[in-house]
Amino acid sequence: SASDMTNPIRLLSSHLVNQIAAGEVVERPASVVKELIENSLDAGCTRIEIDVEQGGVKRLRVRDDGGGIPREQLALALARHATSKVVDLADLEAVATLGFRGEALPSIASVSRLTLTSRAALSGADEGEGMAWEVTVGADGQIEPLRPAAHPPGTSVEIRDLFFNVPARRKFLRTEKTEFDHLEQVVRRIALARPDIGFQLRHNGRTVVDLAATGDDAARLDARLKRLLGNDFVEQSLPLEETAVDLRLHGWVMRPAFSRSQADQQFFYVNGRMVRDKLVSHAVRQAFSDVLHHGRHPAYLLFLELPARLVDVNVHPAKHEVRFREGRQVHDFIFRVLRRCLGLGTLGAASDAGR
Ligand code: ADP
Ligand code: MG
Repeated sequence: SASDMTNPIRLLSSHLVNQIAAGEVVERPASVVKELIENSLDAGCTRIEIDVEQGGVKRLRVRDDGGGIPREQLALALARHATSKVVDLADLEAVATLGFRGEALPSIASVSRLTLTSRAALSGADEGEGMAWEVTVGADGQIEPLRPAAHPPGTSVEIRDLFFNVPARRKFLRTEKTEFDHLEQVVRRIALARPDIGFQLRHNGRTVVDLAATGDDAARLDARLKRLLGNDFVEQSLPLEETAVDLRLHGWVMRPAFSRSQADQQFFYVNGRMVRDKLVSHAVRQAFSDVLHHGRHPAYLLFLELPARLVDVNVHPAKHEVRFREGRQVHDFIFRVLRRCLGLGTLGAASDAGR
């Protein structure tokens, strides 16, 4: 309306700023779980327990046995742009952690009822050491006073009533089952990349995923992959591992004869982060182009490792995308390694490029 024209410019309240940021990061319970699990992994945990009710909309709790958060930093962990993971631009250009934006907790807290409970590993300096503390964010985004709590070393984050204050978002949530399916997929995807971590997922009191850490035991790793991807994948896939200067690709690709009718088993991780990347998909598709029939899809579980400075992870708020500094080189490396693994030559590749 015309009167809007005369409204003065104002700074948004931090609560509203967090809610706007939540729009980018928090789409559904699955995105909440992704952020919380990433925090647990960054905290150096060995086991993560996820307990959800009603698809994660009613209640969702992630508990870890990581380093914890000292009492005096609990409120800060909930503040916007507060992170323990990067200090300066040099850190940002070589991020080694899954998180770095300092946005997840405040964003999630602004669209739910959040309680953070933590017991930090003993430092000796802090009074109240060895104790757990708890903080809740009120409906108005205000952080309530700390309370002592009972908790083993590590951290729990509990989210209740996701989007209780954002009806527009709540409207887009699907059925309890669909939301839980998405959430379970996130847990499974992360578990694929972290066999060193134990994962448990419970829904409405029922255990849905229960995976012990595998250590270095190959048989236990196989068993875990079987549970996550099925027997076929483990029995019919070709292992690969290749290094070229800065790049290392390892993992498994399914023999082309066992291709799938859907692109439902395509897992690609860059420095431990699951990504959806056009350049990567193109390289893979091209590598398989001669051996897959139209409408069939390759299955793979692949991990690309490269120095953090060669990949920009600060591209997307939810960090689903990355940007390679040497895209062409990465593309060709993936293509070549896969072709060799499939027993195919690399000629004819160039003519296909850009298809
Ligand atoms: P980011 O992960 O980008 O740093 P978050 O908002 O997700 O931002 O978390 C803010 C900070 O809170 C983290 O940098 C970390 O220091 C602390 N934190 C969050 N979750 C945990 C956890 N599970 N264990 C230990 N510290 C945590
Ligand atoms: Mg985080």
